[in-house]
Amino acid sequence: MNPAPRTPGLIAAGEKTFSFEFFPPKTEAGDRALWHAIRRVEALSPTFVSVTYGAGGSSRGRTIAVTKRIAAETTLRPAAHLTAVGHSVAELRSIIGHYADAGIRDVLVLRGDPPGDPRGTWTPHPDGFTYAHELVSLVRELGAFTVGVAAFPEGHFRATSPETELRHFIAKCRAGADYAITQMFFDAEAYLRFRDRVAAAGCDTPIIPEIMPATDVRQIRRFAELSGAVFPRKLADRLELTRGDPSASYQLGVEHATAMAQRLLDEGAPGLHYITLNRSTAALDIHRGLQHIDQTQETGSIDALTDHR
Ligand code: FAD
Repeated sequence: MNPAPRTPGLIAAGEKTFSFEFFPPKTEAGDRALWHAIRRVEALSPTFVSVTYGAGGSSRGRTIAVTKRIAAETTLRPAAHLTAVGHSVAELRSIIGHYADAGIRDVLVLRGDPPGDPRGTWTPHPDGFTYAHELVSLVRELGAFTVGVAAFPEGHFRATSPETELRHFIAKCRAGADYAITQMFFDAEAYLRFRDRVAAAGCDTPIIPEIMPATDVRQIRRFAELSGAVFPRKLADRLELTRGDPSASYQLGVEHATAMAQRLLDEGAPGLHYITLNRSTAALDIHRGLQHIDQTQETGSIDALTDHR
């Protein structure tokens, strides 16, 4: 189990990490698509794969089940997302214990947002945590986990000022984060500016950029609204011109993401974290277009499987 080297070790050795993010599906068809995507990325031996944690209810059980199944039935190293939303500290301890029992040693620690209205007022569980750094400390205290946290190069929508947010981010890293993964962004400069500000403030936690291929203009507009990510006008206009031609939109989104990812690697980003939305084709096409990533483990069979879903 967990055959791949640990993320911080690879980064310290100067190797680029690459990882893929999935979400727990609600239907049997969704489950089949997820496992098809997981098997395709497995052939590349990524550094890790991660599974998002839902806002509440049954999706949380599905996250735990999918993460455990990846640990039990694949050669992949799964990182479990975990949020503080609606959980007492005792419940969080118990979930972390379940992960440890299943051999899962990587946790992406998040505060999360209120269920229902993510932009609504944040109310902590009466016996829970208010900020992600508290959960980072708990995970650290409970075992030898590799801990990731979230970063927001273009600012978190709840931030009162960029300076305060930077201070909070660094405090979260110092509570015990091994690395951070950013929210999606579409302009390499946003990442580079943020990374340089963090470094200038004396924090050396590696920050892995999240890559979301902009292959569907409506979908990206919605994600940008929800997350506060900037959808650059130029990219949006170019994508608008391909509306009604999914193949042209796909090509444009993949080309843009590949060029941005290459620039990030050239500028020293420690790796890349691909959002797949459980359809791995675009992430794999971007990945194969890059230099500076060890692609020696890639097999020809991946090409045969490419189906541009
Ligand atoms: P925090 O670091 O706690 O920050 C939240 C806010 O509080 C920020 O504005 C911060 O500046 C402020 N703050 C922090 N510390 C303090 C302090 N001491 N005093 C005052 N203010 C403070 N959400 C999910 O529900 N499930 C997922 O699986 C998921 N995965 C994600 C993966 C990635 C890579 C990213 C980038 C985000 C993900 N999210 C997920 C979304 C995330 O939960 C939300 O964006 C949430 O609003 C912020 O979480 P955080 O961990 O950054 O919180």
